[in-house]
Amino acid sequence: ESKKANNFIQNLIEENIASGEHSGQVVTRFPPEPNGYLHIGHAKSILLNFGIATTFDGVCTLRFDDTNPEKESQEYIDAISRDVRWLGCEWEGDIRFASDYFDDLYAFAEELIQNGDAYVCELDAEQMAEYRGTLTEPGKNSPYRDRPAEENLRLFRQMKAGDHPDGAMVLRAKIDMASSNINMRDPILYRIRRATHHQTGDKWCIYPMYDFTHPISDALEGVTHSLCTLEFEDHRPLYDWVIDHISAPCKPRQIEFARLNLNYTITSKRKLLRLVEEGHVEAWDDPRMPTISGLRRRGVTPESLQMFCDMVGVSKAGGTVDVGMLEHAIREDLNARAPRAMCVMDPVKVTLTNYPEGEREVLTLPVHPQNPELGTRDVAWTRTLYIDRNDFAEEPPRKWKRLAPDQAVRLRGGYVMTCREAIYDDDGRLVELRCEYDPNTLGVNPEGYKPNGVLHWVSAEESAEVDIYQYDRLFKAEFPDADKSVDFTDNLNPESLVVIRGARAEANLLEAQTELPYQFEREGYFFLDPQHSMGERPAFNRTVTLRDSWGK
Ligand code: ATP
Ligand code: MG
Ligand code: MG
Repeated sequence: ESKKANNFIQNLIEENIASGEHSGQVVTRFPPEPNGYLHIGHAKSILLNFGIATTFDGVCTLRFDDTNPEKESQEYIDAISRDVRWLGCEWEGDIRFASDYFDDLYAFAEELIQNGDAYVCELDAEQMAEYRGTLTEPGKNSPYRDRPAEENLRLFRQMKAGDHPDGAMVLRAKIDMASSNINMRDPILYRIRRATHHQTGDKWCIYPMYDFTHPISDALEGVTHSLCTLEFEDHRPLYDWVIDHISAPCKPRQIEFARLNLNYTITSKRKLLRLVEEGHVEAWDDPRMPTISGLRRRGVTPESLQMFCDMVGVSKAGGTVDVGMLEHAIREDLNARAPRAMCVMDPVKVTLTNYPEGEREVLTLPVHPQNPELGTRDVAWTRTLYIDRNDFAEEPPRKWKRLAPDQAVRLRGGYVMTCREAIYDDDGRLVELRCEYDPNTLGVNPEGYKPNGVLHWVSAEESAEVDIYQYDRLFKAEFPDADKSVDFTDNLNPESLVVIRGARAEANLLEAQTELPYQFEREGYFFLDPQHSMGERPAFNRTVTLRDSWGK
């Protein structure tokens, strides 16, 4: 059965195969720089690269693009690998590092020098910028451009040996200082940087630049289709130049697609790092962060991220996606699968005056009403219960579908009860509702009257005290970093976290299985957070509310 192409990259590869331009295995790669945690934008790139490999029965590698040792760390390598795996993606072979190829890269650089395609330049940064020219003005040749190959080789070897201080000279490609593409105006290939590298230690004091490293790493790994975001479109001529000027084992093809941008969200590792460093959030995996680890801790599933990325699609056209679409995908997935439970956020005591003291019964409720195969759960029914303070009104507004004096409601999965008395303390705060339950209403409608709605509830004696971390958007501005006259942190939403202490949940939640969030009926989806839990007292992160406004 033929697989149906669903994005332009897949179409393109199918055409390549049909025309014979491509033969053999399709190889893609995901190439993160280990300078931060992955965010939702990276999820798009991961699912695309691994998805393309799967579609064509090919493979995808995971390669750390580690040419900036000062900004990189093992912590980031570990976090990124964990996140990729959590998304369900299995890379081919071992994890790779661009630094694995430092010896090869060095050899290819010497090859360029020997062929007269690279030279050592001693212009300082300021002069370099001046010689580079502008968009409207061509650059001019460096006075070092015509050095003989032997001299370039000698100097480059000295650079490698540590004979020159940082910044004293660089290796540049000899291409065209008049090119309309500034990336082609003799770009830097290597610079001197005395920095300890997380993989190679102090072996090197020169490090290759991204534009040199990337195409060669791709070629060494046999990557056939090198997918990257649109900002690299202008780098493609350089990518191809490098491949064409070295004895590359194969010729990978770079294809660009649009980055994922979400409103109310920042997707830049540099800015996310600031949120962590300045303490605006708990950590990289704060559930408000758009990082994969933050989304996971919040209760978002890999399946909903896949669904979301499928909805967004892959194209050359940029634009901003509504974060409501992400929330929609999360709800779609969780609604179908999340176990149900009841949790009362703001408990007020209900006494069933006609229920015998000391007695209890166990009600059997489905874990998921549409999925009987998920089984049942036991919920205790006792003389004292809790319902939510918001579910009672002394003077109900019109169309009130909850409890009010002398009104009856059904308690979900339990009996119908009628409110007979509301008791207030001296400050006028409701402290207790005295109700009568109707013993003939378990699973059947009462005779002669109609309940005014269905409420969630828990037993007072047999429920668990839990804390609820209620999240809202981290930023109050739709485009938090659009206005350059203010710092993006000024657009943080001060109410992005509200902690509710002492909510009451079904006792069976103490054995909460943590794979999926719960749907707390009438409230939303909530995911156990071991980091926020205190001893026996669980804490739940609100993943998302129930109300879906996307597309409406
Ligand atoms: P950031 O600006 O957040 O640091 P980056 O592009 O520098 O992102 P890398 O670690 O280099 O981060 O990214 C690895 C891969 O993920 C690259 O191929 C990059 O193009 C892709 N990627 C990064 N951000 C996005 C995004 N918002 N949407 C889609 N792909 C992305
Ligand atoms: Mg990058
Ligand atoms: Mg970056």
